[in-house]
Amino acid sequence: MAKIRYFYDTETCKYEPIKVTKGSMFLNVVGFLTLSLIMAFGLIYIYQANFTSVKESNLRAENNNLKLEWSILKEKLNNAYSNTSELQYKDDKIYRVILDTDEIPATIREGGVGGHNKYERLSEQGLEDSELIIGTYQLVDNLKKKLYIQSKSYDQISTILSEKERMWASRPAIQPINNKELTRLHTTFGRRFHPILKKWINHDGLDFTAPKGTPVYATGDGIITASYRSTTYGNVIFINHGYGYQTRYAHLTKYIVGRGESVKRGQVIGYVGSTGRSSGSHLHYEVLYNYKPINPINFFQRDLDNEEYEKLIEISKQETIPLD
Ligand SMILES: [Zn+2]
Repeated sequence: MAKIRYFYDTETCKYEPIKVTKGSMFLNVVGFLTLSLIMAFGLIYIYQANFTSVKESNLRAENNNLKLEWSILKEKLNNAYSNTSELQYKDDKIYRVILDTDEIPATIREGGVGGHNKYERLSEQGLEDSELIIGTYQLVDNLKKKLYIQSKSYDQISTILSEKERMWASRPAIQPINNKELTRLHTTFGRRFHPILKKWINHDGLDFTAPKGTPVYATGDGIITASYRSTTYGNVIFINHGYGYQTRYAHLTKYIVGRGESVKRGQVIGYVGSTGRSSGSHLHYEVLYNYKPINPINFFQRDLDNEEYEKLIEISKQETIPLD
């Protein structure tokens, strides 16, 4: 049962019941609700302005952790970028110097990685720490480019190295006869008195005295261009080593390689004899560079130690009679 409220009527000098109309009741309710809503929004505003929710606190903490992680990542990338400088130094100042090859121009190594707009997407997001993020992306891109160039450089060095190895393997750089089997080396290279013809002519090689049947080795990698019997050279082998070098092995008792055959340095190609115009069992050995005979003694250092090489040079200065 609704509670009846009274008021004191001064005219009637009596307490009269207050009559509540539906309209005034509605207004009261609306007023009450409006006031409640205003107070509720006010409280929410004050709460949000002054207090953070657990969820928001967690998000803030996570955000700070992410910022820290990005900073650490950026630092690590910086270190990796610095380390590539060491690779670059070794590349330019050691490998390329040894291989006598030009350095990679700085304009290529330090070239940019795309235009300014590349990071526009990140700038437009209006992130609080966009500078950190863009800086990290730039480092990644620079590092990628630097490593790509370094990788290409190593490919190039590898190709050059293979070519140099081929060239070094092709040079006639060893003795055609093993030192142990060498009885004597006649080193009269150039003009000398011919023992059979009894006149002064050029002797274009070195004569290695060794017993008949002593193995003769190819002095560098190459292709046999001829192996035949000649009236002067006797059984002879010609090898083309490429890079301007050729060698000849004469007066053999026998050759065991044929025209067009590939040979490796140190491979047995024939045996010492005294065929052709020869006055005793020996190998006549010639080295030609661009078709001109050169003194083979300058090529023997590869299979001799310093002492042996000095001794050989000393022997080469002595006057000896070639066997042709
Ligand atoms: Zn000779």
